[in-house]
Amino acid sequence: MIVSSPESVVVPTIGRFAPSPTGPLHFGSLVAAVGSYCLARQSGGCWLMRIEDLDPPRVVPGAADAILRSLEAFGFEWDGPVLYQSTRSEFYAAALASLRQRGLVFDCGCSRQEILASAPHPGEEGPRYPGTCRNGLPPGRRPRAERLRVPDGIIGFDDGLFGCQEQHLADTIGDFVLRRADGLYSYQLAVVVDDFATGVNQVVRGADLLGSTVRQIYLHTCLDQPPPHYLHLPLVLAPDGEKMSKRHGAYDLDAGGVSAAPLLRALRFLGQQLPAELEQSAPRDILLAAVAGFNLQLVPRYVRPAVAGDHDAVIGKGSL
Ligand code: GLU
Repeated sequence: MIVSSPESVVVPTIGRFAPSPTGPLHFGSLVAAVGSYCLARQSGGCWLMRIEDLDPPRVVPGAADAILRSLEAFGFEWDGPVLYQSTRSEFYAAALASLRQRGLVFDCGCSRQEILASAPHPGEEGPRYPGTCRNGLPPGRRPRAERLRVPDGIIGFDDGLFGCQEQHLADTIGDFVLRRADGLYSYQLAVVVDDFATGVNQVVRGADLLGSTVRQIYLHTCLDQPPPHYLHLPLVLAPDGEKMSKRHGAYDLDAGGVSAAPLLRALRFLGQQLPAELEQSAPRDILLAAVAGFNLQLVPRYVRPAVAGDHDAVIGKGSL
């Protein structure tokens, strides 16, 4: 089965930025914010803000506010109120019930260890679910998680930057979790419910989520929703080759004041050519100029490590 995103994004564009409040804004997130903002605003569209605070153990108190303050200081303005996933459980429950009614959901009694043991060489996305409970819980098992049945076929989409992408869900991922053993709804379910509920038709985010996109497109089709158009940005990697995260340092505003340097670096990372006189401008003016001149053709189409300048920018507080 091939399910494609729409060829062209309908007007008006509704983009979004959806940080997880696991720490202050870091350079990788800033790049995603800049890319999604410029592409949404350039076409005169909306840009929504969603805080993905779905997983209480990972949420750092105060991080959501710190991220929003950093974004404001860099000159970002979003449309409407901030949507917090922690307030949206009833909508995730309704989507899950609807999928269950269609016979697409089953209870799974497997523990993480059992699944790991079944796949001694897990791929990038973790171990593939071996299908143990898809035809009913084995005797003596109690239900833990709820999973979506995936089809035996290839699903593809046309990424706005990386082009044609395909994945055989059954072979690479297997039936995936919609509700975890601890009762929390999964990221995949929440993102699909929220993107549709808020009318998002353009998802621009880091290439670390390329591997989640087919799951999300499939979920949209199971819920009879048109999937948004997806565009993944080159991933910012730390010098150790890992995805940049708060572990590698982050921006926050504790040091007071804001410098435009990280914004300029994020734009350079996205291949954008900026007029020299802009270097001295305030962040908001830089952002407005970036929106006006943003050129997708210049964005590098590969995952590349952060250059030294990028790295300098994210180490330690007070870099703003
Ligand atoms: N919350 C995710 C993150 O901070 C992004 C999810 C998305 O853009 O779909 O990496």
